[in-house]
Amino acid sequence: MKMNALGNTGIVVSRMCFGSLTIGPLQKNKTLAESREIIAAALDQGVNFFDTADLYNNYDHLKNAINIKRDVIISTKSYDYTADGVKKRLHRALTELGRDYVDLYLLHEQESRKTIEGHWEAIEALIRMKDAGKVRAIGISTHRVEGVRDAATFSELDVIMPLINRTGIGIQDGTAEEMEIAIHEAKLAGKGIYGMKPLGGGNLLSQKQACFDYVLGLEDLDAIAIGVQSVDEVLYNVKQFNGEKISEALASAVLDASKSLQISDWCVGCGECVRHCKQKALFLKKGKAVLNKEKCVLCCYCGAYCKEFCIKVI
Ligand code: SF4
Ligand code: SF4
Repeated sequence: MKMNALGNTGIVVSRMCFGSLTIGPLQKNKTLAESREIIAAALDQGVNFFDTADLYNNYDHLKNAINIKRDVIISTKSYDYTADGVKKRLHRALTELGRDYVDLYLLHEQESRKTIEGHWEAIEALIRMKDAGKVRAIGISTHRVEGVRDAATFSELDVIMPLINRTGIGIQDGTAEEMEIAIHEAKLAGKGIYGMKPLGGGNLLSQKQACFDYVLGLEDLDAIAIGVQSVDEVLYNVKQFNGEKISEALASAVLDASKSLQISDWCVGCGECVRHCKQKALFLKKGKAVLNKEKCVLCCYCGAYCKEFCIKVI
């Protein structure tokens, strides 16, 4: 597994980043024993980089990784914009991970300079936590070209996690080519960059090989986060990252691994999920939430806002 320096952070990560949303309660809801096996397989293959978020509710799963290998790199995220909020969320991460630091702390879905400035109190708190050794590097995730461009201009931000895939599905304000240019500029500015949604959240599974070829060819990406839900998927993805031949048996073992978002029929039509889906993949019809599958990138953000627990990705 190729290892890369993550920008100027001094942190070295495997090019494959283990996207942990999939194993947690918002998606496949693996047991701790099952996820331990999947994580152990990834560690065995040289993966040292694990991506999570407060929203994913899966720190107990990632504790498995730390218990196996103390110096794994963990990146977490939250939506906080206040110092108090980010302090609470970091405290939760440290407590549930059983560690006295996290490697990366990102703020989710930053759209532009204005959004970043609107979160400045949280960013200042993160800078203090970094000085105190509780966080090694800070940054943002974004689905927007403008988010990457603007984040690159802030010296306080070390890392950017942009959405990138070959068709550009999920990029809210531009094309894949425009995102590539913004990523390149951010890379030149010394930012650590790790991409997300290389398969468009499952929407591009029919062109999986082309998607891997595209994203692995983007040299500005220090790492790429990809969700995994089984040991076979770990092995398959690692082979893709290593440019190794994939047997037919392994390829067919991961064929059935697609996911979809389901909305239960007890939806009360409150519209909260619609309001929080930045991809505009949800709408209300006859008092119920309805999904436009073509726009959905399976980020699971909407599920966190449904008080009725009707949204699941399975
Ligand atoms: S519908 Fe939900 S999972 Fe799909 S893009 Fe919108 S917020 Fe993300
Ligand atoms: S948040 Fe839940 S209850 Fe409200 S519209 Fe969406 S799915 Fe329905």
